[in-house]
Parts: sequence; C-alpha cells; structure tokens
Amino acid sequence: MPRILIVEDEAHLAEGLQFNLEAEGHDVVVAADGGAAVECLLQPEPRFDLVILDLMLPVLGGIEVLRRIRASGDYVPVLVLTAMGDAEDRVRGLEEGADDYLPKPFRLGELLARVRGLLRRRRWDGVSEPPGLEPAQIGEVTAHFDRLELDTPNGVVNLTTREAGLLRALVDSEGVAVSRGELLETVWGLRPDTRTRVVDSFVVRLRRYIEPDPSRPRHIVSVRGHGYRLVR
Ligand code: CA
Repeated sequence: MPRILIVEDEAHLAEGLQFNLEAEGHDVVVAADGGAAVECLLQPEPRFDLVILDLMLPVLGGIEVLRRIRASGDYVPVLVLTAMGDAEDRVRGLEEGADDYLPKPFRLGELLARVRGLLRRRRWDGVSEPPGLEPAQIGEVTAHFDRLELDTPNGVVNLTTREAGLLRALVDSEGVAVSRGELLETVWGLRPDTRTRVVDSFVVRLRRYIEPDPSRPRHIVSVRGHGYRLVR
C-alpha cells in the first residue's frame, strides 16, 4: 500500500485529502506544520512513497522542508501545493527539487491524477517496457526509465520523475545541444522564457549520479549560453 505524507496546516483541507486518498487505497499520514513534516521524513522507517507539501506552513515553510529532505539525500517524489498565481513559488519549489506542483484551489480529480502519475514508478510492474523507455547506457551508468533507476558503479540510484524526464530528453537528443527553454517546456511544462535555475539545478543532481567527476562533466556537457548536450 503506497504511503503518502500530507503536509498541510489547513485542517479541513488535510482531512479532505486524507479521506479521498485513503479511499483510493493509500496509507496516509498528516503533518500540520513543517517541523513535524521534517521529523516524519527524516525517520528511517517507515518510508513514504510520496509527499504532498503545502508551501505556506507554520514553524518551517514548505521550501525549507523540501531543501532539508533533499539535503538528506531523500528523493521521495514531492508534489507542491502553491498559492494561486504565485509563479515565483512554483518555480522555487521546482528549483528545490519538487517533482510537480498544483496551484490552489485545485480540483480533487486533478490532484488524484498527479498523485497517480507520481506513484507510477513505484507500482510499475515491469511486465513490458512501454515504447520510448528502453534502457540507455551513459558511460558506466545504465538508465532504466521504466523503473526510474540508474545502475551505477556505486549502486542503484532512484530518480524522481523530473530527473528521469530531463535525462530522457537529453538522451533523446544525444549529441545535440538542447536549450534550457526547450527543456523547461518539455520536462516541466513551463514557458520557455521562464526565468529560473531549475534546469541547471537538476543537471547538477544528474551529474552527481552519472559523472565519474561531477566537477569535470564528460556526459552532460554545458553549451555556453544555450543549454546542455548529452555524450554517452
Ligand atoms: Ca497553508
């Protein structure tokens, strides 16, 4: 049973989400502030399969919660809830490692669809590999896009859906420079002219997994003033 942590201080909203996610067969825990959320997430057991994180929280804000869980090396998928129309918050959430975002107020059906999308990697049975998800060899690393896993000389690394999406986009254009704007649009669904470091901060993460020496990248190469190019 997938375990979901809801981090939301508005009790009626948290209760409503909990009720509906439990009805979908999930095991749900609610944290009412950022401090409680970090405490839940930094415990070694039980692990969560997904975090639904409101950004406006007492004690510790959602961005800080996200920063702390990523700093601890935890790449659990995170769906961020942002105030309506706050594009800056949305982009900051992605920069700090959120996988997806949903502006408030949202429709329940939309939230449940995002949750299914983010949990898919955990439930993928691997019976057959869907088209376009063949494994890719990049240096000493094998990317399994169906399982969102990297086989590296140092062990298996779990990718978030956005990390895998970014790597997939680069692999699909192997040898060709892909612009930041194009990556923002195809991987994050953002306008290509959005001012954000999100592509670069995700590239830093991917390089940590893939490059033998991340400070001198050989596989995900910067193309000055443009974007990135993948070299196998
Ligand atoms: Ca709130």
